Amino acid sequence: TIDAVDLEKAFGGHPAVAGASLRVGSGELVALVGPSGSGKTTLLRLIAGFEVPDAGSVAIGGLAVAGEGVWVEPDKRRIGMVFQDGALFPHLSVRANLEFGGPRAGRVEECLELVGLADRAGAFPHELSGGERQRIALARALATEPHVVLLDEPFAALDEGLRAELREEVAGVLRAAGASALLVTHNQQEALSLADVVAVMRDGRIEQVGPPQTVYGDPATRWVAEFLGDAD
Ligand code: ATP
Repeated sequence: TIDAVDLEKAFGGHPAVAGASLRVGSGELVALVGPSGSGKTTLLRLIAGFEVPDAGSVAIGGLAVAGEGVWVEPDKRRIGMVFQDGALFPHLSVRANLEFGGPRAGRVEECLELVGLADRAGAFPHELSGGERQRIALARALATEPHVVLLDEPFAALDEGLRAELREEVAGVLRAAGASALLVTHNQQEALSLADVVAVMRDGRIEQVGPPQTVYGDPATRWVAEFLGDAD
């Protein structure tokens, strides 16, 4: 679970996150959507511990990790992350990439199995296709058995066909792993088809949060309706 409460973060006096609260329940997949500059990545970075909040608190798996007098370093937060470009270590084999965070014995094989790439353990990142790299990035994120997985536009660099294929697969893998997940995406179709819950961010706040059918079928404000109608 993730519990982010009243988070605030400004850069040079300009608020990027301005009182955002968001809950990701156990085993839930939440998609975070919103216009460019609305604060999605900053919210993710606050949860991950790459930014210190100006105010508010974060708890992960029930443990307070940021807030008044509370600070837990990113590597102690039990999170896994997947970025747009996968960000695998180029000089390490797939196996070594997955072993990096010190998973328990047998876990590397489990995770490669989960993403269907058990036969690629000895390969190096440059020998993998774009889709395979993203699958390995997901396997690596899961290797340390995190409470939550944070995904920032994980499919953005892939072509549409591969995107659609991986989208389904990733949702299945996350469910099989039982991890809670927060996914930042610009792709409405992705949010609609993948997420249990969609959160719409506007100017550093969560404007609406609910099941995809509700958010898309019954937007809470005119702004949400227009954003979802117009967005790319
Ligand atoms: P996008 O969809 O384009 O990735 P976003 O919703 O993820 O956008 P953020 O990247 O969180 O938005 O940015 C929110 C605001 O904070 C923007 O105005 C951005 O310029 C600003 N910002 C983010 N990080 C920094 C930083 N390190 N220093 C200064 N300003 C920043």
